[in-house]
Amino acid sequence: MSLPLTAYISLISVSGVLNLFLCVYVFVKRHHYNRRIAKYFILYTGAIVIYCFAAAFALSATNVEQAKLWTIIQYIGMPASTALGLVFIMHYLGIKLTWKSQFALFVIPVMSFLMVATNDWHHLHYRIFEIDPALGAPFIHVEIGIWYIVHGIYTCVCLFGAVLLILLRWKETEVTYRPQLMALLYGQLIPLGAGFVYLLGLRPQGVDPVPMALCLSSLLYLWAISSARLFALMPVAKDAIFNSINDGVIVLDESHRLIEFNRASKQMFPALDKSFFGRDFETVWKELSGKAFPFEWKTEIAQELQLKTDQSERVYQVRISSLQHANTAKGLLLILNDITEEKNLKMKLEELVYYDDLTGIYNRRAFFAQSNRQLASAKEQGVHFTIVLIDIDHFKRVNDTYGHHVGDRLLRHIVKVCEEQLEEGMLFARYGGEEFVLVLEGLDAAAGQELAERLRRQIEQTSLETATGVISVTLSSGVAELSQEDGESIDQLLNKADLALYAAKRQGRNRVEVYRNPSV
Ligand code: GH3
Ligand code: MG
Ligand code: MG
Repeated sequence: MSLPLTAYISLISVSGVLNLFLCVYVFVKRHHYNRRIAKYFILYTGAIVIYCFAAAFALSATNVEQAKLWTIIQYIGMPASTALGLVFIMHYLGIKLTWKSQFALFVIPVMSFLMVATNDWHHLHYRIFEIDPALGAPFIHVEIGIWYIVHGIYTCVCLFGAVLLILLRWKETEVTYRPQLMALLYGQLIPLGAGFVYLLGLRPQGVDPVPMALCLSSLLYLWAISSARLFALMPVAKDAIFNSINDGVIVLDESHRLIEFNRASKQMFPALDKSFFGRDFETVWKELSGKAFPFEWKTEIAQELQLKTDQSERVYQVRISSLQHANTAKGLLLILNDITEEKNLKMKLEELVYYDDLTGIYNRRAFFAQSNRQLASAKEQGVHFTIVLIDIDHFKRVNDTYGHHVGDRLLRHIVKVCEEQLEEGMLFARYGGEEFVLVLEGLDAAAGQELAERLRRQIEQTSLETATGVISVTLSSGVAELSQEDGESIDQLLNKADLALYAAKRQGRNRVEVYRNPSV
């Protein structure tokens, strides 16, 4: 065996060993890396291993049959490695590939293998494949066939395509990640360059220089994995961060097409699927929620969204913010923040602060807050303003006879009966133990008296049935209207209503009395 031949075989074997090492190393450490990226890298380097070792064995062939056999084995690895290299880089750069397009990428590599394996019958890959008459075995003299050209073009397109994708991503990649991209770039450029050398006929003694060149690119990968942490940083970390955000994040391009979504948004919309990628988001939304997209495409405005699923109803605060790169808008981020708990808590607090927990109507605090507002507006508009104080007659007896629990039931019963007589929006509140207050904006004392009478009659006629007997009670009310002359306050008005109520009690209960202003 001549010296250069030994050197070729050694170099090619070193390539094979280096790639085998990379393949096994990443396989062992695959759990630390992004699963899909690691998988394609393992397949990619595995294909190169087959290619290199078969190329090394081909250089030890002593006859044409052996040379053919090793060439066929080379074609298991070589065409597949170009496709796998491209797929690996696409996954690395976060470019989504559908199963169909991934499958399509492997049609030509499989065909090339079959063409070489059956070349003796059709001679479409090699028109001539023989031991070089001048150099002798293992050197081969070939004349290429039509399929060889197809295969050659495909290989160049794959390698060049990968280079182009890396270059396109270059500008938007942060400086710290650029060494990784550089390793990927040269990992593709080196075999591309060697392939050109081969095609231009500059090959030494007809030997394919690509497996030797792969030695260099695998050294680069080795460096990138160990020093620049090829797999560990960029895609993995970004994926992890993206998916660890508790808010739902949905990424759209500048034409509002869906590009990406994180795990939290998948929980919000279980039907959200990667097959929606590239589709207009308004149509995707319709499919997901059954409703038209409810938001305006305005950024920095928080909008609220109520979503009903089979199990629960949740409230989200939705923000749309623009994705900027180099001061130009590149797309949109839809951020969904689950505020259901805050909303519920706020509602509960409001209930505690403003509602009476026994009867469910407004409490004293809410009465003062709202009646003061209504009084101010009535004064401003110069309209009538009347309040009615209502007190249950001899309520203490009910408690004493039937117990406190039945007293509570009676309070709820009275509120229910009164509410049925009131118009919506009227301010009706529990003023004290068994006292209630009614605010009538726009109504005078006579109208207040009429309404109080109606309530009195209704309560008198509607008794409460309990296990221990039927309970009938009556009401006494005091009505007072805001005097138009001086600036009365709610407290002064309540005093007047209280005086009228006292008069009603004094005059035998179960009646309505109106406070008469002394001047009238
Ligand atoms: P009057 O006709 O003079 O108004 O007589 P009354 O018995 O209704 O008046 P009084 O003010 O002497 O008693 C009111 C009673 O209401 C005393 C109190 O125990 C009862 N009470 C106050 N708040 C509640 C409550 O939340 N539940 C029950 N069951 N009773 C209450
Ligand atoms: Mg009372
Ligand atoms: Mg009472």
